[in-house]
Amino acid sequence: MKAINQRQEHTGSYYAATANEQTNYPVLKGSKSVDICVVGAGFTGVSTALDLAERGYSVALIEANRVGWGASGRNGGHMISGISGQEKIEKKRGNGTADMMWDLKWRGNDIIYDRVEKYGIDCDLKSGFVEAALKPRQLADLESYAAERERRNFPYKYELWGKDKTREMLGSDSYIGGFVCYRDGHLHPLNLCLGEARAAHGLGVQIFEQSPVTKIEHGKRPKVKTASGYVQADSVVLAGNAYSLFEPKHLSNLVFPAGSYVIATEPLSAEMVAEINPLDLSACDSNEVVDYFRLSADKRMLFGGTCNYSGREPASIKAYIQPKMLKVYPQLKNMRIDYEWGGMIGIVLNRIPAVGRINDNVFYCQGYSGHGVSAAHVMSEIISDGVVGTMEKFDLFAGMEHFRLPGTQWFGNQIIALGMLYYKMKDKL
Ligand SMILES: Cc1cc2nc3c(=O)[nH]c(=O)nc-3n(C[C@H](O)[C@H](O)[C@H](O)COP(=O)(O)OP(=O)(O)OC[C@H]3O[C@@H](n4cnc5c(N)ncnc54)[C@H](O)[C@@H]3O)c2cc1C
Repeated sequence: MKAINQRQEHTGSYYAATANEQTNYPVLKGSKSVDICVVGAGFTGVSTALDLAERGYSVALIEANRVGWGASGRNGGHMISGISGQEKIEKKRGNGTADMMWDLKWRGNDIIYDRVEKYGIDCDLKSGFVEAALKPRQLADLESYAAERERRNFPYKYELWGKDKTREMLGSDSYIGGFVCYRDGHLHPLNLCLGEARAAHGLGVQIFEQSPVTKIEHGKRPKVKTASGYVQADSVVLAGNAYSLFEPKHLSNLVFPAGSYVIATEPLSAEMVAEINPLDLSACDSNEVVDYFRLSADKRMLFGGTCNYSGREPASIKAYIQPKMLKVYPQLKNMRIDYEWGGMIGIVLNRIPAVGRINDNVFYCQGYSGHGVSAAHVMSEIISDGVVGTMEKFDLFAGMEHFRLPGTQWFGNQIIALGMLYYKMKDKL
C-alpha cells in the first residue's frame, strides 16, 4: 500500500472504468471554518457528511485521493444487511438490545434504498442476495436466518433453497443449499459513493480531494491540517478506515488492513447468464473467508475473495482469483478477464466496528471486517447522531471494549493472519 500522502487516482477497476463522473473537487487551500469536518470520502465519510448536511450543519469533507478511492469504490458491491460483531454486542448487553440491533441490521439498506430514490443515484441497485452453503453444518445457519425472519414478521421476501434449487439459481454444483433475502442486494459501489457525494455537495458540503490530512491540532475547535490549508470545526469525524494512519496513540493496532481482490470477466452471453444467475442475485458462500460473486449491469461476472495481510498486492490478481471462480463456474473457463483489482478492508479483532472519541470532539468509526457497504451507512447515522449529541447508539458501540494488540502493526497483522489461518482450516473441515 502506498503511503497516504501520495495522492492517487482511482485503481484500474471495472467500477472506475464505468464511473458516472470523474470528480475534480478542489484541493484544500487556506483556512475554512465549518461546524463539522469529516476526513475520508468513502461510504463512512460521505454518508456522514450527507447526513449532517441534511440536518442543516455546515460540513467540510477532506479526501486524500478521490471520492470513493478506498474500499468503498472497489468492493464486491454486495449490499448485505447487518453490522459485523452484532451478535457479540447482543451477548454482552443482554436481550434488551436485541430489538434495537435487529432494527440497526436493516437500517443501512434502508438508508441506501432511500438515498438512491431521493437523489436519483444511478448505481445499478438490484434486490436479492443469496448466502450459499458448502457444508451441511452451514445449513443450520441458513435455517436460523429464515426462522428469525418468520418470528419477527419480516416484511420482505426471503426463501430457503435446497440443493437442486440452489443449483438451478446459481448454476453451480458447489452448493448444497441457499438462503435468499430480497431486502439485501447489489450495486455499483463507486457510483453510489459518487452519487452520495454529489448530493452532499448539492446541500453545501465543501468537498476537497487530493488533500491528505497530515495532522489534527486538538482543542476546543480542532484544526484539521493538510499541506496547503486547514479546516477548523466544532467536531471532527475520522473515516479513513483501513487506509488511515491517524492518531496512532489512540487508534493504532485497532484496525488491521487486509487485502481483498476482485476480477471481472468480459460480458457474458444471454444464454450463460440464464444458466448461472437467472435472477440476477448477488452471492457469497457461507465460509468465514468468503468467496463472493455477482453479475455487473453489463453482465460481467465479478468474482472476489481472499484476505491477505502483507499490504502488498499479489503479483497477479487474476492468477489468484480466477481458479476460485473456475472451481465454482468451470463453464467460464474461456471467458476473458477484463479487469482485476484489490483494496484494503479494515479487520477488527472482535469484529465490532471500532467507534469512539478522542478529546470529546474528534470522533472515529472504522473497521467493518469486510462487510461495510450497508454497515458504513448505518454507522454513519450513529456517528452523526453522536456528533450532534444523541448518544444512545453511539455509546452502545463506543462502550464495547477493543483489545489493542501490543507491538507494531506488522506484528498485529501476523497475529490476525494466524487467526485467519485458523478460520481457513475450519472452512476446509
Ligand atoms: C475488494 C473488496 C471487496 C469488498 N466487498 C464488500 C462487499 O461486497 N460488501 C460489503 O459490505 N463490504 C465489502 N467490502 C468492505 C467495504 O468496502 C468497506 O467496509 C467499506 O467500503 C469501508 O468504507 P469506509 O468509508 O469506512 O472506508 P474506505 O472506503 O476505505 O474510505 C476511506 C477513505 O479515507 C481516505 N483517507 C485515509 N486517510 C486519509 C487522510 N489522512 N486524509 C484524507 N483522507 C484519508 C482514503 O483515501 C479513503 O478514500 C469490500 C472491501 C474490499 C477492499
